[in-house]
Amino acid sequence: MKKINVTIWNEFRHEKTEDAVKALYPDGIHAFIKGFLDANEDMNVRTACLDDPDQGLPDALLEDTDVLLWWGHMAHREVSDALVEKIRKRVFTGKMGFIPLHSAHKSKPFAAILGTNGNLSWGRDQKEIIWNMLPAHEIAAGIPDHFLLELEELYSEPFFIPQPDELIFGGWFEDGHIMRSGATFYRGAGKVFYFQPGHESCRAYYHPCVQRIITNAIRWARPNDFGFAIEDACPHVTWKTTDEFDA
Ligand code: ZN
Repeated sequence: MKKINVTIWNEFRHEKTEDAVKALYPDGIHAFIKGFLDANEDMNVRTACLDDPDQGLPDALLEDTDVLLWWGHMAHREVSDALVEKIRKRVFTGKMGFIPLHSAHKSKPFAAILGTNGNLSWGRDQKEIIWNMLPAHEIAAGIPDHFLLELEELYSEPFFIPQPDELIFGGWFEDGHIMRSGATFYRGAGKVFYFQPGHESCRAYYHPCVQRIITNAIRWARPNDFGFAIEDACPHVTWKTTDEFDA
């Protein structure tokens, strides 16, 4: 079976400027995520950063990406609209899955693909329990009924996303706030999974359940082999007789 070409995009700014973040993710969040994904023999994992040439995603790499992970926060506005449109189109035409992580809820690709401002409520870092609300889902495979993150940034409802197609994880914070923490969306012929944990100064990506969820989500979001082309436009109908379908 063909390997899944995974690209982890990270704006890679906090890790350079804040000691606490540098201590947790010395080579960047992207390198840390690649570190645990590399154990999967069915994945070919590359990384890309905002300050790389072509903002990390030259056409050749984007067109060779089956699943794109996105971590951004302080530099959302620096991402070029032209690149965002290429990402949106690739998702809508079913060529690439998209996994926005944590603060990517306010990123340009998130807004372009989901059609929302992505606003949410937020507050101090605290304990979060992630509840497994849809254990039969492929992304929840191997995840217990709940797990604890000792410290995570409070992200809370109301979270202005479209109604998810599937709500897989719910977050409960010790202040009493709740959050739709893991949700899927189908856009065009593509698949999107948003996952809330992953604040840059917390340790979420060290947690084995978080690692398993991201791993599962990549396998879920990989493009289907449609066997026919899907355009980013309304195509003409071409009539087929049943004989042609049967052939
Ligand atoms: Zn954060």
